[in-house]
Amino acid sequence: MMDNETFRRQAHQLVDWMADYLKNIEQLPVKSQSKPYEVFRRLPDLPPGQADDFEGIMEDFREIILPGMTHWQHPKFFAYFPANSSYASVLGEMLTATLGAQCMIWETSPAAAELEEKMMNWLKEMLDLPRDWDGVIQDTASAATLSAILSAREKATNFSANHRGFPQGRYRIYCSSQTHSSIDKAVRIAGLGSDNLVKVGVDDTLAMNPDALSRAIEADMAAGLHPLCVIATLGTTGTTAIDPLEEIGRICTQRKVWLHVDAAYAGTALILPEYRHMARGMERVDSFVFNPHKWMFTNFDCSAYFVRDKETLIRTFEILPEYLKTATRGAVNDYRDWGVALGRRFRALKLWFVIRDFGVEGLRKRLREHIRLAHNLAKEIEAADDFEIMAPGPFNALFFRWHPREITETDRLNALNAALLGELNNSGKLYLTHTKINDQYIIRMVIGQTYVRERHVQQAWEVIRQTANSLRERL
Ligand SMILES: *Cc1c(COP(=O)(O)O)cnc(C)c1O
Repeated sequence: MMDNETFRRQAHQLVDWMADYLKNIEQLPVKSQSKPYEVFRRLPDLPPGQADDFEGIMEDFREIILPGMTHWQHPKFFAYFPANSSYASVLGEMLTATLGAQCMIWETSPAAAELEEKMMNWLKEMLDLPRDWDGVIQDTASAATLSAILSAREKATNFSANHRGFPQGRYRIYCSSQTHSSIDKAVRIAGLGSDNLVKVGVDDTLAMNPDALSRAIEADMAAGLHPLCVIATLGTTGTTAIDPLEEIGRICTQRKVWLHVDAAYAGTALILPEYRHMARGMERVDSFVFNPHKWMFTNFDCSAYFVRDKETLIRTFEILPEYLKTATRGAVNDYRDWGVALGRRFRALKLWFVIRDFGVEGLRKRLREHIRLAHNLAKEIEAADDFEIMAPGPFNALFFRWHPREITETDRLNALNAALLGELNNSGKLYLTHTKINDQYIIRMVIGQTYVRERHVQQAWEVIRQTANSLRERL
């Protein structure tokens, strides 16, 4: 094991490496070019019996590990949704790692609990969420949504399901056909059964159709089933569609159904007043999650989960063995009772660093720049002869396909676009992903990376067009 002096020396060098990496990241292929098991085979089968020196470890990191990494902080990372980091966030994570605290309850680090509570209040101010809500940091939106469904289950059974279990096939959950797979997973884990997850139809913007929701709930009630929870999405993963919260909220209030809002990606846009319209009806919401680890420049993982009634959340998760009883119980927040895991990382620290380093205005400025870049590129794509926009992107995500005029069959167009995407990603010059809308293969481009600037978007568009042209010559 290295000593403190070696740690100091190596840490200085490591920080230099980190700054160089981020400075020169554009020279690396965005998507790893590694083949299956290439990394695995280069690693020894047995652990070292004797200590390795840190120089050797770092050399292997550079030689073996780095080529097997996809560079999510590359400005031409346009795939999925970004998992953004930023300089301040990285420094915050370094301190969290150095402190190495396990922040399960207030007593195991009062500052962690209190900074977390303060940061959740700051986020309520920033996103203009109801001020009487309470927030807690979870690792992922998946865990937050599971918490919401478990809370809804406990509330609906007067907190008896945790103890006695609950009848099979009685409770129903509703979401749109465009909802994230984490909802399917949470419904399974919560023991509700995926057969009881009702996928409600969508309108032509791919947002949930509230009339269809209403009809589904009524039909279930008429059949003697119990509508438990509706999940509305602000910014679906496929096409960033916005479910109509106000109408959905009215239905949920009328039918006394828990309303959970999954705003994992697009929730960050609520810090922009021009996007607050999508929050209309928020006062009827029971729980809400968004991920600062996506579009708010805070390293994965950091998911902000808010609830209207914290007592329901705590009663769902609270377990109190003797060894966790403390004198301060009840007077402070013991966040182990606010979610699935007992142990908790000090995640509030990086969030605090990010919000202070950017300032709320600085965050707004970056988001608006992303949205502007996406908007401008959409105009160029529209103007191009052989490309077309396939869905409206209300944020900074674009949905388009290559469509050479002479080709009309969907199957051929799908194959062409899949080939184009493969060629682009294999080039290492940029990284895009795809989705399907009505069986049509669509290229999905999210312009939201921390370090993306106008020239990166221009270069990406150039590469897309050139690659399409060269594919066309080979047709
Ligand atoms: C990314 C995403 C999720 C999952 O987020 P995790 O934090 O990785 O669990 C859930 N819902 C939506 C809409 C997303 O975009």
